[in-house]
Amino acid sequence: MALSEFQLLRPPNLTEALATLYRHAGEGPRATRILAGGTDLLPSMRQKLFEPEHVLDIRRIPELKGIRETDQGTEIGALTTLHEVEHSELLRARYPVLVQAAKTVASPVLRNMGTTGGNICLDTRCLWYNQSLAWRKSCGFCIKKDGDLCHVAPGGTKCWAAFSGDTPPALLCLNAEIEIGSATGVHRIPLRDFYTGEGDNYRKLRPNELVTRVILPRSSAGYRGAYRKLRIRGSIDYPLAGVAVAVKKSNGHVEDLQIAMTAVNPAPTLVSGLAQLLDRCLSDDAVAETAGDMAARIAKPLTTSALTPEYRREMIRVFTKRAVLDVLGQRPRTNDQRRDY
Ligand SMILES: Cc1cc2nc3c(=O)[nH]c(=O)nc-3n(C[C@H](O)[C@H](O)[C@H](O)COP(=O)(O)OP(=O)(O)OC[C@H]3O[C@@H](n4cnc5c(N)ncnc54)[C@H](O)[C@@H]3O)c2cc1C
Repeated sequence: MALSEFQLLRPPNLTEALATLYRHAGEGPRATRILAGGTDLLPSMRQKLFEPEHVLDIRRIPELKGIRETDQGTEIGALTTLHEVEHSELLRARYPVLVQAAKTVASPVLRNMGTTGGNICLDTRCLWYNQSLAWRKSCGFCIKKDGDLCHVAPGGTKCWAAFSGDTPPALLCLNAEIEIGSATGVHRIPLRDFYTGEGDNYRKLRPNELVTRVILPRSSAGYRGAYRKLRIRGSIDYPLAGVAVAVKKSNGHVEDLQIAMTAVNPAPTLVSGLAQLLDRCLSDDAVAETAGDMAARIAKPLTTSALTPEYRREMIRVFTKRAVLDVLGQRPRTNDQRRDY
């Protein structure tokens, strides 16, 4: 599990980083990789999932750090650690669903290293992909890396590796945008357009581009939020199912409800059709129940080493219902209070 040889590039500022990336981007398996906290990249490089010729270490770049208020809302630099997000009073007051989600990532040590940009760009995962080279070779490899078969969906041609970052569903609920930089300039896109829905080429980012910041719009400030996560060990694990819910209420009336999921599809996924659900003027219980059913319908969890796909889909339904009742200001009913994290 030793690292393969690579050249480490350490630009001191953003302009140099983008120019360096332009010169060395490369293509395919040897393409340059961006190193932020390294908590996902380095284990993957040890497993020979990536063998880049160059690694671009962006950790020293000051322009990518910090949380700032602007006229349009709040900006979070791509290098802002999850620890900083978790402990930001500004984010806690304005965007509580994001703080709750950040708080559940991995463990305190990993949140000290792991960054917001790294969490958004996190590689997709699967039982057959996140393994050593010897393990993958013995199985004949897979579509995502070096092979042409899918062990999860035999006979299929699509890669189903799951996106398992915790903060992106919260960011989707808040209608976040991301800024992408390259040597030719910067552009912004809604986060919801960043993911492709494919397990292998899971994000829309060219080899010469990097994510520079996240923008949370002012219009999403003040949404009440809740994040629910299913995992085996509450102290460290990736989500096996995760649900973020954000709601805007005024004068006791629900103006907007947003729900997004993680770990059960190749991309973090927003539940659509919630505006029509609100138009039906249902009771809070009925909204929560129906939203849970809608979320479970679009969750497609696949085989992992623990918990069946059926159980994980059911937990999406249960978590959605609980989180919706929570943000609407109602306690979930007692027969529905199984343990979650
Ligand atoms: C034991 C363990 C448990 C974990 N549990 C969780 C969990 O519960 N929830 C969770 O969400 N994650 C979990 N992780 C994964 C990881 O720690 C976090 O997702 C973290 O936020 C990744 O950030 P990073 O800065 O370390 O990313 P890195 O490892 O540096 O990068 C991750 C990927 O993003 C790319 N990248 C990084 N920054 C940028 C950028 N600015 N622009 C473009 N590309 C970029 C890298 O090239 C790489 O492909 C876990 C990891 C471990 C080892």
